[in-house]
Amino acid sequence: MNGEPEARTVYRFGGGVSDGGAGDRNLLGGKGANLAEMASIGLPVPPGFTISTEMCARYYEEGESFPDSLRAEVANGIAHIEGITGRSFGDASNPLLVSVRSGARVSMPGMMDTVLNLGLNDATVEGLAAGSGDPRFAWDSYRRFIQMYSDVVLGLDHGSFEEALEIAKEDKGVHLDTDLEAADWQRLVARYKELVEEEWGRPFPQDVHEQLWGAVGAVFGSWQSERAKVYRRLHSIPADWGTAVNVQAMVFGNMGDSSATGVAFTRDPSTGERAYYGEYLINAQGEDVVAGIRTPQYLTRAARERAGAKAPSMEETLPEVYGQLAAVFDRLEAHYRDMQDIEFTVERGHLWMLQTRSGKRTAKAALKIAVDMAREGVISEEEAVLRVDPSALDQLLHPTLDPGAERNVIAKGLPASPGAACGKAVFDSDTAEQRAAGGEAIILVRIETSPEDIHGMHAAKGILTARGGMTSHAAVVARGMGRPCVSGAGAIAIDYKNKLMRVGGIEIREGDVITLDGTTGEVMLGQVPTIQPELSGDFGTLMEWADAGRRLMVRTNAETPADCRAAREFGAEGIGLCRTEHMFFDPERITNVRQMILAYDEAGRRAALDKLLPEQRSDFAEIFRIMTGLPVTIRLLDPPLHEFLPHEEEEFAEVARASSVDVETLRRRAGELAEANPMLGHRGCRLGITYPEIYEMQARAIFEAAVEVAREGAPPLPEVMVPLVGTRPELSIIRNLIERTADTVFEEQGMRVDYMIGTMIELPRAALQAGAIAEDAEFFSFGTNDLTQTTLGVSRDDAGRFLTHYVEKGLYARDPFVSIDVEGVGELIRIAAERGRATRSNLKLGICGEHGGDPASIAFCEEAGLDYVSASPYRVPIARLAAAQAALRAKD
Ligand code: ADP
Ligand code: MG
Ligand code: MG
Repeated sequence: MNGEPEARTVYRFGGGVSDGGAGDRNLLGGKGANLAEMASIGLPVPPGFTISTEMCARYYEEGESFPDSLRAEVANGIAHIEGITGRSFGDASNPLLVSVRSGARVSMPGMMDTVLNLGLNDATVEGLAAGSGDPRFAWDSYRRFIQMYSDVVLGLDHGSFEEALEIAKEDKGVHLDTDLEAADWQRLVARYKELVEEEWGRPFPQDVHEQLWGAVGAVFGSWQSERAKVYRRLHSIPADWGTAVNVQAMVFGNMGDSSATGVAFTRDPSTGERAYYGEYLINAQGEDVVAGIRTPQYLTRAARERAGAKAPSMEETLPEVYGQLAAVFDRLEAHYRDMQDIEFTVERGHLWMLQTRSGKRTAKAALKIAVDMAREGVISEEEAVLRVDPSALDQLLHPTLDPGAERNVIAKGLPASPGAACGKAVFDSDTAEQRAAGGEAIILVRIETSPEDIHGMHAAKGILTARGGMTSHAAVVARGMGRPCVSGAGAIAIDYKNKLMRVGGIEIREGDVITLDGTTGEVMLGQVPTIQPELSGDFGTLMEWADAGRRLMVRTNAETPADCRAAREFGAEGIGLCRTEHMFFDPERITNVRQMILAYDEAGRRAALDKLLPEQRSDFAEIFRIMTGLPVTIRLLDPPLHEFLPHEEEEFAEVARASSVDVETLRRRAGELAEANPMLGHRGCRLGITYPEIYEMQARAIFEAAVEVAREGAPPLPEVMVPLVGTRPELSIIRNLIERTADTVFEEQGMRVDYMIGTMIELPRAALQAGAIAEDAEFFSFGTNDLTQTTLGVSRDDAGRFLTHYVEKGLYARDPFVSIDVEGVGELIRIAAERGRATRSNLKLGICGEHGGDPASIAFCEEAGLDYVSASPYRVPIARLAAAQAALRAKD
């Protein structure tokens, strides 16, 4: 050693000691940091210690082994627990038992495994029996420990343990675990130990230290498990964060009828309503509540009565402890200033807190809780705006079931995650994933879900389970993913083997359509119509607060009247991208478009364009009317012409008739237009350069429409946008064409309308030449889809084969087509913004493309000083909120 002390890796909590606190989440993981915090504010927390997340990385660096320094620190940690509990680890007469729990920076439900009752062996079990005066409890704990340890640490198949338990119950002629007695559990322990030896080839470890290190290694090991990796990928959690390990004195909820265990939320996580919300089980250990082995009971009397449940609430069975618990809830909520998700255990009438964290909630609840807490004065309006995840708004903006529609309800379960979903029933996650990838809407139907179902749940539109409560795996994960979920629909019998379910005499096979209402818990046969979401109330309030904090304007990408109207309802402040080619695809017009493309000369093209002109004009006029008072950016024709070509025999014949040429000639012409790499081919302003009459027609349509609408008394604000410009001269030529056309139209009409001409910046050359290009452009709109393709040299249409792999390997932090590549594409945007503004100080800057609706990309736009973002209609509210958050974060 040369003087450099080893960094500390073990942090104690409990019994008046707290080496860490809520601020140490990165180092201690969420669970460890909050255990320390709860202990430090004097709440009853069983003593323990946390091995920091840094040790997880070291464990892997050192070839999955532990440094000696850690062994010494852990020994101190154990001594700390022994000192407070007065028990000794491995001591036969007064044994200390601990739990070994994982805990990453952000909670990863069900991803990492916990071992309870560690420290039991053939000797200590006797001590536990004698000490508690309850041999049944001791042997039950021991068999639970063997089962969990074998599963989590030794990786043995738990099926054979469950089978042994079933046999034990059958032999005795009972149905419930609670009907087994001490001697039964003792016999089962012997059987379990045989099973371990058969499957593992070695006896179950009796040395408590070996048990401890095995469990610690397993927690670290689970960080690299497949299901943890999947979860990290879905939630963009970096692999190098690592998990902490928490070792904590056991407290026992399974010590008889004055003992219990439960989970609770300080407010309703589905609706956000201000009422304690939770479930508990008498005489049980923690895992029992989540696993759905026994049906949990309600915490509060009000909730029980509302559900019409008979089994008494904790408020009724253990009123005194319930009172203490309620006080703790209030204390925690006030302390953390947020809704908390809590685990607790009651050991013979004594309350212990085992976990608290900010509770996962539905978008609806997030909104209500943020707005309520601001009104309660707990947080400011700005904090409320920062509290709601913009992407989660998606859930609120999508349709719910039409209350007036007929519903053929076939079953009812728990309203585990709100929203309506309709799709084909599928009974396993792999099939769900495959069929969803093929574009089908899928409802995943399972008896209950486990972490192995994550991919299926993600692929599905909705999830239905036959078993499990409101805090079951299915419920928690579905709420987190924003998937509607009905859980615990007990009337449904699922037959995995034959891929069907039966309920009330009806048989539903794989592929049959069902509808779920995650808000009521109803399961319906067939498809039920839906209605649009409500945008006032809490949503409206939060949006108002967001708009007050926002600098960036939010526009929309839209061209159909319906989309334009929807976007305006969602608060769009103009159109950032109107793609004129979408109007070309209209079945009534496509023949004229094709005739234009396939024409051999200008005269032929003009003849077809003359037919398109009035159609485009009326489209633009309608958009101007819907967007009264707001800017409308219209992009001139962008895609390569071959995209519009006929494919079918029938289509060729129709174009031939319309343009009076023969089909053979048409075919030849179509062949001539084919390109090897159309993305980089004859498209964008290159079309306008080679066939000026196309852009001339479009400009004419825009200006004639503008005059028409201006005459009605509401002058529109058209912004004509030229795509795929790479050099200033390209833009100069087209600018001239547009200006000439405008002048002609205004002269013909005897009226002028204000307008702007600008360009998309979607080629690296354009970004670099922005200073020159800005001489001819009054605005830039960053077309980040193409700019990403051209900057990265990655074709969007071909990226599927390697992109996921790249993201998994961390070669791209995120999919660059979803979230802007800040280092590369972002730098080009900054350069273009700076050079453009140096030429023209009032140059308007915006972004269109998928990134305009992505919160992380919007934060970048805020930082880069753009004027607006443009997003698809349904993402407009998301963009408004994300823009507000970016501005508020930049402020402090
Ligand atoms: P998860 O992150 O999956 O919830 P936890 O580590 O929180 O895993 O533990 C799983 C269950 O075991 C929870 O119900 C928890 O309350 C319970 N538990 C954990 N540690 C103890 C302990 N020391 N005493 C009693 N119950 C515990
Ligand atoms: Mg937990
Ligand atoms: Mg483009």
